[in-house]
Amino acid sequence: MATFVEAEGMVHVINDVAGGEHTLCGDAFDLASDEPGYVWSETRSRTVTCPLCAAII
Ligand SMILES: [Zn+2]
Repeated sequence: MATFVEAEGMVHVINDVAGGEHTLCGDAFDLASDEPGYVWSETRSRTVTCPLCAAII
């Protein structure tokens, strides 16, 4: 079962296989340390809007 998060206005899928700390498109949970304001938030959406994540799926 996939886990979804919203970041930067797009819905991404978490790569659980890699430990759940990255999205499929490669953004890390701790990216906020490099990008002020970057945050993951829980989403009820089940529609991936990140084109990179969607391409991998
Ligand atoms: Zn993504």
